[in-house]
Amino acid sequence: MILTEKNILKFIVFAPLITVPFIAFLIAYFILTRNHDNFQTTIKSLQKDLIVVEKKKVQAKVESVIDLVKYRQSIIKEELKNRVKDRVYTAYNVAHSIHQQFKGKKSDEEIKKLIVSALRPLIWNNAESFIWILDFQGVSYLAPEYLRHLEGRSWIDIQGASGEYVIQEEIAFCQAHQEGFFWNTFTKPNDPTMQQHEQLVYLKAFDDYNWYMGSGEYLQTAAQISDKELLNSIQKIGEHGSSYIFVLDSDLSILLNTSINKTPHANTQNVLKKIETLLAKQESGFIEYEWINPVTQKQEQKYSYIQRVQKDGWIIGSGFYASEIQTVAKIQIKTLEGEYNKETRYLLVLSAFFILISFVVSYILHIYIKKILQRYEIDILAKQKALRKLNQSLEAKVQSRTKELEESTKQLQELAHKDSLTSIENRYSIMKTLESEIDRAKRYKTKLSVVMYDIDHFKDINDTYGHDVGDDILIALTQLVNQNCREIDFLGRYGGEEFLIIMPNTSREEAKEFAHRIRLVVQNHSFKIIGKLTISLGLIEYREGEEIKELFKRLDILLYKAKNGGRNRLCSDDETEDIF
Ligand code: GH3
Ligand code: MG
Ligand code: MG
Repeated sequence: MILTEKNILKFIVFAPLITVPFIAFLIAYFILTRNHDNFQTTIKSLQKDLIVVEKKKVQAKVESVIDLVKYRQSIIKEELKNRVKDRVYTAYNVAHSIHQQFKGKKSDEEIKKLIVSALRPLIWNNAESFIWILDFQGVSYLAPEYLRHLEGRSWIDIQGASGEYVIQEEIAFCQAHQEGFFWNTFTKPNDPTMQQHEQLVYLKAFDDYNWYMGSGEYLQTAAQISDKELLNSIQKIGEHGSSYIFVLDSDLSILLNTSINKTPHANTQNVLKKIETLLAKQESGFIEYEWINPVTQKQEQKYSYIQRVQKDGWIIGSGFYASEIQTVAKIQIKTLEGEYNKETRYLLVLSAFFILISFVVSYILHIYIKKILQRYEIDILAKQKALRKLNQSLEAKVQSRTKELEESTKQLQELAHKDSLTSIENRYSIMKTLESEIDRAKRYKTKLSVVMYDIDHFKDINDTYGHDVGDDILIALTQLVNQNCREIDFLGRYGGEEFLIIMPNTSREEAKEFAHRIRLVVQNHSFKIIGKLTISLGLIEYREGEEIKELFKRLDILLYKAKNGGRNRLCSDDETEDIF
């Protein structure tokens, strides 16, 4: 397209119609693509985010189990103490009530037997826990089943694991404190090796017979009990919620696995190795491995969080399959897709509306600009017309002025060359003509004759008839002479009533004839008011090399001669005279 004025105007008129909707379209396109990009990025980061969230969930679950374990451990000892103390108090109350009931009715020996027989059946934990009675001399009254053969004997010299005298210490404790907890070691009923095991004991003095009774629980057994309870609790936690929980002992033996897939897995050793490697470096962390998903029955990628409860303590773990995330991701993506589609539809409607509005706005703008331009065009056309008119009038003025100037110039020229009264060449002009004719005569070697004439007694005419009549006579005489001059001759007013006739290419003889004829014409003419008048003439033929001054001198002399001779005559330079 050529960049003409018309094209530019067209562009200005149509520009808003194209550019405004185009910009609106661009904005809409930008918003829509941005929205799409945002959606894509959200989806991309979703899976990653979900893994992070799921990892946090699993970690939180493991940590909650660990909190539970720690809490349970903190109350285990408390529970153990209560258990042991309760047993002793039960036994004591039984013994005390028997004593109260039969005191004074039966002998002490009989009452003692009754008490022993009443307390003998009190056993707990597969007879691992029992009630024992000794007097302060160390004689046993009630012994557990496996030591019953030692009843009635003194146990005062029994030694514990580190060689301490267990019974002596117990007696000393009861004598000092009446009752209370006591840590010691003792053999176990079910352990034929008769090894010493650490146990918590509650002792209480039974003052009526200088007895003390006690009961204990082996720490190992207590721990087993609490571990079992703990594992039960963890099992319950594991059963709730989606992810399973597993508990490993410090030697990595599996204590609990809430997963529905409990069958040993080929990868077990590999996973245990991973756990071991991780826990060698840190107390907790994630491991990644492949495991059969009990739901899909396929080998799948899996993430598990592992944490140790305390140093050399249990290891708690929980995990999830990557596929679970994908399932969740799919659901979330579907929801997001729905939202995205809804948003896109909304944006499309909004964009369409926006583009439509921009079309309307740009159309109004287009019309408005068009109108403005049209107005300008009309304005410009009117101004152009006015300008053209002005130009035309100016041109006309210039033309007329030029004409006036030409005319006045012509007049001036005429004034410069013509005599104002007679309208023939003036003195200046006739002199110029004479100069050029002399030049011509010199150049072409031609003849040139000059006649000067003067009115006779003109003063008298002026005096008699007035100056105006004199003027009229001058005009009339000039017309008369002029009528009789040849085409090639020049007639000029030399001054006052003196005239010069230049006759180019004319010899003296020819000139004489002519001058003669002129003198006669004048002589014979009857002028208005004054009637007759005459003229005197001098005639010369140009001499080669003659100066103009000399020429006039000669003429003057000849004219003077004619006047002096009696006037109305012609004197030539050949000494002839033409009279009457
Ligand atoms: P002559 O030549 O015969 O000797 O006598 P004259 O009377 O003509 O004498 P002259 O030529 O000396 O005088 C010229 C006179 O012409 C003087 C002047 O008053 C008159 N004259 C010169 N120019 C004009 C003019 O333009 N108009 C009128 N009316 N008179 C003029
Ligand atoms: Mg004169
Ligand atoms: Mg005169």
